[in-house]
Amino acid sequence: MIDKSRTKVIQKGKREKGPVLYWMSREQRADDNWALLYAQEKAMDMKVPLLVCFCMAPSFLGAPYRAYDFMLKGLEETEKSLLAKKIPFLLLEGEPDKNIFILVRRYSVSEIVTDFDPLRIKQQWKRKAGETIKIPIHEVDSHNIVPCWETSSKKEFAARTIRSKIHRLLDRYLVSFPDLLSHPFPLEKDIPGVQWREIQRRLKADRSVSPVPWLVPGSQGGMAILERFITERLERYPLDRNDPGIPGLSDLSPYLHFGQISPQRAALEVSFSGKEEEAKEAFLEEIIVRRELADNFCFYTPFYDSFNSFPGWARNSLNEHRQDRREYIYSFRELEDAETHDELWNAGQMEMLTKGKMHGWMRMYWAKKILEWSTSPEEALERAILLNDRYELDGRDPNGYTGIAWSIGGLHDRAWPSRPLFGKVRYMNNRGAARKFNVKRYIEQVKGRV
Ligand SMILES: Cc1cc2nc3c(=O)[nH]c(=O)nc-3n(C[C@H](O)[C@H](O)[C@H](O)COP(=O)(O)OP(=O)(O)OC[C@H]3O[C@@H](n4cnc5c(N)ncnc54)[C@H](O)[C@@H]3O)c2cc1C
Repeated sequence: MIDKSRTKVIQKGKREKGPVLYWMSREQRADDNWALLYAQEKAMDMKVPLLVCFCMAPSFLGAPYRAYDFMLKGLEETEKSLLAKKIPFLLLEGEPDKNIFILVRRYSVSEIVTDFDPLRIKQQWKRKAGETIKIPIHEVDSHNIVPCWETSSKKEFAARTIRSKIHRLLDRYLVSFPDLLSHPFPLEKDIPGVQWREIQRRLKADRSVSPVPWLVPGSQGGMAILERFITERLERYPLDRNDPGIPGLSDLSPYLHFGQISPQRAALEVSFSGKEEEAKEAFLEEIIVRRELADNFCFYTPFYDSFNSFPGWARNSLNEHRQDRREYIYSFRELEDAETHDELWNAGQMEMLTKGKMHGWMRMYWAKKILEWSTSPEEALERAILLNDRYELDGRDPNGYTGIAWSIGGLHDRAWPSRPLFGKVRYMNNRGAARKFNVKRYIEQVKGRV
């Protein structure tokens, strides 16, 4: 039995007699997926078929071809895994609420189970679907180890305030997954397989941002990356993770963002890895506490991508410094093309353009410089989000909106001694970077890759 507290009824309604529909969205995988397991549990109880669908909207927060390619290849693998368990999969193109409505009618769907996602657009899709659909809709948090609504009922101030709330519930939620069963109740009508090549061909996404060859999309690719991280990098994670010139991070974020692997699976594998406690703790702090703090922020702050989401002290302080003289102001195009006077910043931007993933330490520096080189904090925020969501494979994610608000607006941080332009928001500079790592080596490495 799935722990009911991971699930929520977001719409009551009258159950029909047909299959249970799992409306897959954030969790694009067959294994280790509480939402899918819950949908199967319901279908088994009612002795009805289980159907999975994914709705692909015509555009999604500026996602370019790079993101769609990564996602579609992952979904193609997911379709195969589901079919192996006798669970049909449909990919629907167009407005999600309309497609779900048509599907529910066509199959007399009895109930819908879908994934939790704190982003506004996802919540709107569900709200709109609920306006026309009269059957029950359930939401399952399969992304946070401790369900977002169980951790806290309010926006948390910082990692220090959410940490103990998460840790006290980990014994209950950080548990192993049951297997997805081969589903014993087949659908009467056969569903034709998805025409993946045709869908790729029809895509309208911006193809100038091309796929990246260094990561293999999909759940198997993600599990291989996790295994490599545990065997080759985890032991040195506390030492290497703040050096962009060293391959010390897990590189899991694209897989986590598209739900191709489960954060809970990653946390379990790391916990049982037999590596040093200090290394395990350092990694678990990021993948559990920091990541779940980001979902908490977006869930309880519907305007998470605006100046008003910053803490009061930071807004006041940034307001006081609006008129400060800026030594450099760059246009959006100059930033996008990595044409600033700062070689380190340009390297971070180039890493993102070419690799689709900037190093974590560089992301903080990168966003803070955008604040320094823009005409206002609002403009800086908008530019950082646009660039992040367009080029990062893991973009369009609560982690991104939170990381940018941390860098530009002091979110989850404390006030620092005031200085021009930044006010009390933490400042970072090139000299600080040089004290932490070999800046020249990182720049050369990125140049070598271009
Ligand atoms: C300005 C800025 C923008 C960012 N944009 C994104 C984004 O678009 N998408 C995204 O997933 N992350 C974003 N982050 C957070 C973090 O930088 C990335 O999660 C991390 O670099 C991803 O690489 P990794 O998986 O190899 O990291 P690892 O260090 O191996 O971490 C493993 C996992 O822990 C979580 N994690 C690590 N650091 C953080 C953090 N600071 N906040 C929340 N979760 C964290 C992520 O899920 C990550 O995949 C951003 C941070 C900043 C400062």
